[in-house]
Parts: sequence; C-alpha cells; structure tokens
Amino acid sequence: MRILISNDDGYLAPGIIALTEALAAIAEVVVVAPDSNRSASSNSLTLERPLFVIRAQDNVYHVNGTPSDCVHIALTGLLPWKPDLVVSGINQGQNMGDDTLYSGTVAAATEGYLFGIPSFAFSQVEKGWREVKAAAQVARDIVQRSFDDMPRPFLLNVNIPNRPHGELKGMLATRLGKRHQSEGVIKMLDPHGREMYWIGPAGSAKDGSEGTDFHAIENGYVSVTPLQLDLTQRAHIETLKKGLT
Ligand code: MN
Repeated sequence: MRILISNDDGYLAPGIIALTEALAAIAEVVVVAPDSNRSASSNSLTLERPLFVIRAQDNVYHVNGTPSDCVHIALTGLLPWKPDLVVSGINQGQNMGDDTLYSGTVAAATEGYLFGIPSFAFSQVEKGWREVKAAAQVARDIVQRSFDDMPRPFLLNVNIPNRPHGELKGMLATRLGKRHQSEGVIKMLDPHGREMYWIGPAGSAKDGSEGTDFHAIENGYVSVTPLQLDLTQRAHIETLKKGLT
C-alpha cells in the first residue's frame, strides 16, 4: 500500500510527524506538505506565483503553497505512481461541523477524493499536541480498515479526543454538527497606531445533538464523518424555480 500524507500545519508539525511514523509501519509513505502553517486555507490553489517542491529528506517534500496545492502537485506530476490513500493531519485542533468548510486539513483530503482516491482527514480536538501518539495510533487503526462496503472513493473526516489510547471510548460514525456564528473580529492598534484586525474564534456548538461529531467527542469517542462535496440544496430547487419564473 502507498499513502500520500499531507496537512495544513506544515511539514514540521508534530501531528504530521507522528502520523507519518505510524503509517510508515504499514505502508510506503510520501509526505508532501506546506512549508509553513497554512491552517484555514480551505480548498485554495495558488495560481499567481510559482510553486517550488523542496526535498527535505527521503520521501518528505515541502511546498510554498497550500494543502490543496501540495496534494494536487503530488497527484498530477510529482509522484510516479497513484497512491492508494491520501491521509491528511494530524491537525492541531478540531475540524467539526462548519469548520470543515475552512479547514486546510480537510481540503488536503478533499483533493485526494477529487482525484478518485479514498481519503482521510485527522484532527485532534484540543490544541497543544497532548496525546498525539495515541491519535496517530487511532489514525493507523482507521487507515488499515478496508471499509469494503463504502462506495469508492470516500472522504472521511476524523476527530480524535486528546486522551491516552486506553481512555478512548471507541469510534462512532457521525454527521457534522453546527456551530453558532463565529465570534467577532479582534481589533487592535499596531505599534505605529494603525488599526489591525485578527479573525476571531469559531462559534460554540449550536447543534451538538446525538449523532453529531460534537456529541461523539463530548462523550469521549473518536468521531468519523463521511463527507460529500455537492453543496446543492436539493429541497430548494423547486421553490427557486417559482422565484425565477
Ligand atoms: Mn491546522
């Protein structure tokens, strides 16, 4: 088995290092990841400047681009073979509910999925890398499963509580929950007296009911959500037609 690994925290982040170690035990792995932290870059591709692929060591490459750039380059020209799986993470911080739209971690996996490859995004719920090795063990366990009954390709978004492996309750198949609106932007003055803005934190859980990723995590389970990319609100098509006549 050959696995392409990427992330959005950068190729030196503890999460991707732990993930790579865990997966190297079961497969041939290649890392193609951003050269710096590109969190919340979503599915963006870099079109206005050139991208450079630097070999850091055997089978580890970093790119001056986004997570989507990295996987795109790997799949369309860099790798001499098509990987069996694309695995992204392990992200520092949760990607649950609406986070999945902004996430670069999910985006890297999405890029694999768009090229027809079963893909996984892994995130640790709390920042700080506590229990990252336990999370890597979970990732390896999930990646090793065959998911024979799942249609190909599939895209799985996995969130892992920061707990020792023995204290995880198990794994649950979930749907995405929903968050409240993001908190306000943070406005401050720079040392020159100019106003500057920092994007504020994501909103708290609004729908964390049973069956959601939020609920699974709250109860100590690993949350595994199958994702789709078609954003069409099918129920609104007929209603929209009336508004357009
Ligand atoms: Mn990140």
